[in-house]
Formats: sequence, structure tokens, C-alpha cells
Amino acid sequence: MKNGICPKCGAASVYTKKRGAGFEGGLYIHTSILTSGTDYLSYVCITCGYFENYISDEDKLRQVAEKWDQVPPTKP
Ligand SMILES: [Zn+2]
Repeated sequence: MKNGICPKCGAASVYTKKRGAGFEGGLYIHTSILTSGTDYLSYVCITCGYFENYISDEDKLRQVAEKWDQVPPTKP
């Protein structure tokens, strides 16, 4: 997604904006780790509508690693 190609439909129609996608009143993620003060970067594909958000606060990401369950990596 960050390379400008949509991972879902393959179109080169990805746009980005800081705090761009939704989350009126702030991004909230379960366990109350994240609040409206957390910065994130949004990517939206204007072909299929898929969007991603990337949290840019490394401290918040560390808290997620401590409190969330990791998804076991699997080979495609
Ligand atoms: Zn797409």
C-alpha cells in the first residue's frame, strides 16, 4: 500500500493523508491504548475503496505488542 499500489485490487490509485481516514473524534483501538492524541497515516485506494491506517507513534506500537495477541506468521 505504501508503494502506491493497492494490495487488494492492484490499482495504482492510492492516496495518503495524515489522520485521513475516518475515526471522528480519534482513532480508538481495543484496550484503550490509542486515543485521539495518537498520530496515524491513512492510505486509501480510490479504485476499490480499501484503506489502511498506520500508527506512527512507536510507543503506542510497543504497547500493542505487549497487550495484543500476535498473529502467527504463515507462509503464503
Ligand atoms: Zn484497490
